[in-house]
Amino acid sequence: MTVEAMLKLIIKQVFNISFTLWLRTHIICRACSEINDLMKNPFKNTAFLFGVTNAKNLPNDCGIEVLLSGRSNAGKSSALNSLAENKKLARISKTPGRTTEINFFEVEEGYKLLDLPGYGFAKSGRSRIKDWGSLLGEYFANRKALKGVLIFMDIRHPLKPIDLEMIKLCESFDTDYVAVLTKSDKVSKNISAKTIQQVSEAINAKEILAISSLNKTGFEKLRKVLIGFKYE
Ligand code: GDP
Repeated sequence: MTVEAMLKLIIKQVFNISFTLWLRTHIICRACSEINDLMKNPFKNTAFLFGVTNAKNLPNDCGIEVLLSGRSNAGKSSALNSLAENKKLARISKTPGRTTEINFFEVEEGYKLLDLPGYGFAKSGRSRIKDWGSLLGEYFANRKALKGVLIFMDIRHPLKPIDLEMIKLCESFDTDYVAVLTKSDKVSKNISAKTIQQVSEAINAKEILAISSLNKTGFEKLRKVLIGFKYE
């Protein structure tokens, strides 16, 4: 072998080793950054699974499910997007034709958030839980995976009749519920604290918290509450 050929071989080997090292470091760094992101926000990878209109089509009753409910315009979609830090996530729940479904979102294996997009029909003035037909009743009555319900309410108008209907439904099936007061940026800190106090006196919620999707406040606590359902 000539000196030139040997040099070429050495250069090739050095290049191969450097490239492999760079690639490994790159892969490890990406994995670390993804783990880091997930540790900061375990809801980051939340993804839409499917919608269900009929109790017969409900998936296997296993793992943990938390139901997200609220009147139209309460700010639930914005909250779901902010929770996952994904602006497009809840778009599916606004799609016409999907508004009387239970939409399933997977947070991680064994943990699902279930969105009730049609709860409240602000435009037609109808707002009754029973518009859901038997799906919701059967779901509440039989679902072992159901660990809790989040009830999203505009902090300026909490506890509307349909919210009280949902609370009644939760209480009749002994299901924990959390009052999430949305759009807290619309009121002063003082009013926010007063409203939390008034709501806590009026209902028997497991937790009451205020969030603002606009200012991204309250989500740390909301994530904690949601993670808490895993350990019950
Ligand atoms: P949903 O019908 O319950 O899913 O409500 P959306 O998330 O679509 O929100 C309804 C309206 O309220 C939209 O115009 C949002 O931009 C607005 N909104 C939602 N969250 C907030 C918030 O935290 N602060 C303010 N100021 N507006 C909000």
